[in-house]
Amino acid sequence: MKLKIGVHGLTSCYGCQLRMASVKNVLEIAKNFNIEYWYMMSSKGEIKHVDVAFVEGSVSTKEDEEELKLIRENADILVAMGSCAIYGGVQGMLYGMEYEKAFLEVYGNNTIELEGKIGEPISKYVKVDYKLPGCPPEEDELLYYLACFLLGSYPEEKDYPVCAECRRNGYPCLLIEKNEPCLGALTTAGCKARCIKFGIPCIGCRGPLEEIAWYDSLANVFKEKGMEKEIIKARMEIFGKQYENMDEMVEKVFK
Ligand code: SF4
Ligand code: SF4
Ligand code: SF4
Repeated sequence: MKLKIGVHGLTSCYGCQLRMASVKNVLEIAKNFNIEYWYMMSSKGEIKHVDVAFVEGSVSTKEDEEELKLIRENADILVAMGSCAIYGGVQGMLYGMEYEKAFLEVYGNNTIELEGKIGEPISKYVKVDYKLPGCPPEEDELLYYLACFLLGSYPEEKDYPVCAECRRNGYPCLLIEKNEPCLGALTTAGCKARCIKFGIPCIGCRGPLEEIAWYDSLANVFKEKGMEKEIIKARMEIFGKQYENMDEMVEKVFK
């Protein structure tokens, strides 16, 4: 029996699905699975029972919410795929703002048929079994997760930050040596510190590291280096706005 999978996109840029579709030898790999649902590959069909459902995107409309609940009812295992699904993504940065106000600022007096709201992580609506981080996830991680499920095993999630990969690769520390606002210490590893390799400080696109993302400590370091609260918050909120107590942690540093 082949493993039955579904790949779903809520409100998102579809980048995670595209990443999945573009892994090397994807057609060869796909022979191991029955793909029951993948909107990117065919027209939007009926959501059927699957062994594993990969869900990309945040819940940003009432329709997303209903679709997500149906996916959950029909999946033995549900994987939140990418930063939008795990933490609300960039669109989740508006968390705490009134939806109508945000809509007016972006779209003016235009209307949409969907019943919109501020984007939220899928775990606020359904039980999530595994998180596959990234914006989008790395190819080796996607293959690892697929292989684990195929073998009847389960994937181990990374519990260390980008800094660990950065140190391992021997890159100079942009925070210590150049006073740049690098978020590597808060961010889930897996990208092999890609941005730092090119001299660009981490913006946290893989999302905060669960239970270890001490925004207060890093905000304090940034503050000591002369950065202003608004700049620090704006940077941390891009991917971390909906991390538990993130706002309070940063505010505390500036009291
Ligand atoms: S996590 Fe990133 S790549 Fe994936 S859908 Fe969201 S914005 Fe796109
Ligand atoms: S450059 Fe960034 S990721 Fe690398 S060690 Fe310094 S803070 Fe961490
Ligand atoms: S270094 Fe940071 S911003 Fe760059 S890919 Fe890795 S997690 Fe994303």
